[in-house]
Amino acid sequence: MRATVMYGAGDVRVEDVPDPSLREPTDVLLRITRACICGSDLWPYKSMEPVGETGDGARMGHEFIGVVEDVGADVGTLAKGDVVVAPFVFSDGTCDFCDEGLHTSCRHGGFWGAGDVDGGQGEAVRVPHADGTLVKLPVAEDDALMASLLTLSDVYATGHHAAVNAGVAPGKTVAVVGDGAVGLCGVLAAKRLGAEQIIILGRHEDRTSLAREFGATDVVAERGKEATAKVRELTGGDGCHSVLECVGMEDAIVTAIKIARSGGSVGRVGVSQVPSIPLSMESFRRNITISGGIAPARAYIDELLPDVLEGRIEPGRVFDRTLPLDETPDGYRAMNDREAIKVLVRP
Ligand SMILES: [Zn+2]
Repeated sequence: MRATVMYGAGDVRVEDVPDPSLREPTDVLLRITRACICGSDLWPYKSMEPVGETGDGARMGHEFIGVVEDVGADVGTLAKGDVVVAPFVFSDGTCDFCDEGLHTSCRHGGFWGAGDVDGGQGEAVRVPHADGTLVKLPVAEDDALMASLLTLSDVYATGHHAAVNAGVAPGKTVAVVGDGAVGLCGVLAAKRLGAEQIIILGRHEDRTSLAREFGATDVVAERGKEATAKVRELTGGDGCHSVLECVGMEDAIVTAIKIARSGGSVGRVGVSQVPSIPLSMESFRRNITISGGIAPARAYIDELLPDVLEGRIEPGRVFDRTLPLDETPDGYRAMNDREAIKVLVRP
């Protein structure tokens, strides 16, 4: 089959790889119908050491929807022909961490594209622990809602995780740091959870205008100290109850803490690019809770799915480009060059 493989920074190829097949009785085999490129895929795209002539590349992709093609003997909830969405981490759904809603720490879970597990930017994937991992979708494989349903795999669930960790609730003031696809989904999630004021920090007009359509009440294009001053000005001088940090770079984390109201919370979902969290003394002095981490998407899909199915929320609008699988490398380039917010891939 064809699949996406990264060999070093800027070097993404679509090539022939071994066809997946069932190995464990808890596996299913999935034909992928929709996949996409994640902002987090851009970190290795910028920095991965070349693997060299003889090295193995990294199989890419962790957000996908597909149709079940074959089912292991111990799989109880899925059948051939089912349309399913996969969260960006697989999990058994039965261990203590899964019971606690932290499927990303599942005792038998793992990441797509790691070890002998296929990546999602390809034609097919072997899904370990299929009963625990996959969520059946009550739609046909080419339903018009596919783009929005695909965001349940990661980007919308991650925006929601930021909002939950930042304590977003009715009547709260919220700031979202970052106007990438996760930040935009964070705006949607904050709106859905009842936030009164939602300030997005971003400087790309196409993105911040979508943020306004998603529910942002204010846009702050400034950065650093100017951004802090502007957010304070918009919130009566105090900053926001809830801050969603959707970037992961040091300056974004600093800004997130600076614009949090004393006693407020920062929900971090930007993949951290710093060895330690800055402003330890300031966050201590002002009792700011710093929370968040990798989003247990599987824990949220059941809650988020109805609004998407009924069209009340359209997170799929973050996709502004669709490419066939063979053009996936150009999708990486377009997202890295900020030509595209998020690229959907159709195998
Ligand atoms: Zn588990």
